[in-house]
Amino acid sequence: MQDDRISIELRLPGVKVLEVKEEEHWIEVVAQYRAQEADCPKCGRSTWQVHQWHLQRKRDAKLWKKPAWLALWKRRFRCRNCRKVFTEPDPACGARRRTTARLRETVAGWASEATVRAVARVEGVSEGLVERSWVEKISVVGLPGRPHVFLGLDGFCVKKPGRMWTGMWDLETKDSVAFISGERLVDVQRMLERHAARESVRAVAIDLAEPLRQAVELVLPDAAIVADKFHVIALSGRALHEVHGEKRRRGSIAWLLQRGVERLSQTERERVVEALTKDPELARAWSLKEGLRGLYKKRRQEEAATALDNWIRDAQASGLRPFRRAGTTLRKWRGEVLNYWRYPITNALVEGKHNRIKTLKRRAYGYRNDRSFLLRILSLIHTD
Ligand SMILES: [Zn+2]
Repeated sequence: MQDDRISIELRLPGVKVLEVKEEEHWIEVVAQYRAQEADCPKCGRSTWQVHQWHLQRKRDAKLWKKPAWLALWKRRFRCRNCRKVFTEPDPACGARRRTTARLRETVAGWASEATVRAVARVEGVSEGLVERSWVEKISVVGLPGRPHVFLGLDGFCVKKPGRMWTGMWDLETKDSVAFISGERLVDVQRMLERHAARESVRAVAIDLAEPLRQAVELVLPDAAIVADKFHVIALSGRALHEVHGEKRRRGSIAWLLQRGVERLSQTERERVVEALTKDPELARAWSLKEGLRGLYKKRRQEEAATALDNWIRDAQASGLRPFRRAGTTLRKWRGEVLNYWRYPITNALVEGKHNRIKTLKRRAYGYRNDRSFLLRILSLIHTD
């Protein structure tokens, strides 16, 4: 060591510094883990027998304003008991990561205050790393020690049609738990495995989407699945719209038909009655729509079950194809619809946020790509 140098503590837990190389534009810290032994992941025995050394270079947070690299000597151990060869754990970076955890934390922290581009430039890393770090940080917001009991899962579309995201919410605390890109079974399954404990979750409210149902059944087999009330009601609203639309009618009657009957003024009621009197098919569709809304006024689960079965039967017999389809869907989701009377949870709070997402979405065409758009959504949601 030169005598004009100060030494600083590296503050990476468990890591021993072997050498520091300071060049004009960068610094390299050569290090290894201090522990002499590691536990075999297969049989659990501790071992000290080193099979191999290899050097991994990881980008670290800046030191003395210079980009810093951690050159980490990692050991592969061979278990003396079962002969398994394994790499030592790497808590400072995480498994298979090319950056240190504290670099990711540093840039993620800044990214809540500055733009992704600015953070990337200052720290000398890629914008992708900043964005991923922020999403990583922000997507685990449930407080540790407070396990989720009631969860909501729902898909929403970002920017382009077909660009689906799935959000997960704690319905008690009203916090977002995680977001993932995609709506496929594997995506949702992974998110649940990471963020939802089987022992604590009692019920999950979901859209009427098959991959969501399957993922919850796989990961949380003890949790009740509740078909989200508003998605159920929306089924008949859409069916009504299709019936009305098929007739290629125009005019302001469309939104009056969608509105709940109790929310219509006297004049509006008269207009609806007039339209329905002229058109028996539309009248059937409208009363089916109102009938499904009435389902949720039932107090007891048995009453709701009877009402639901009657509605499905009427929809199937209506001769209106959109309602036949809605009936088929609800028959497939009967159990989940009726679970609402055991656990009256909905994603309503999520819908409120969706409205804000939609508002933002209209403005989102100025954003460069989906990732920066997502970050905007996340920051919006987290300002609550
Ligand atoms: Zn072993």
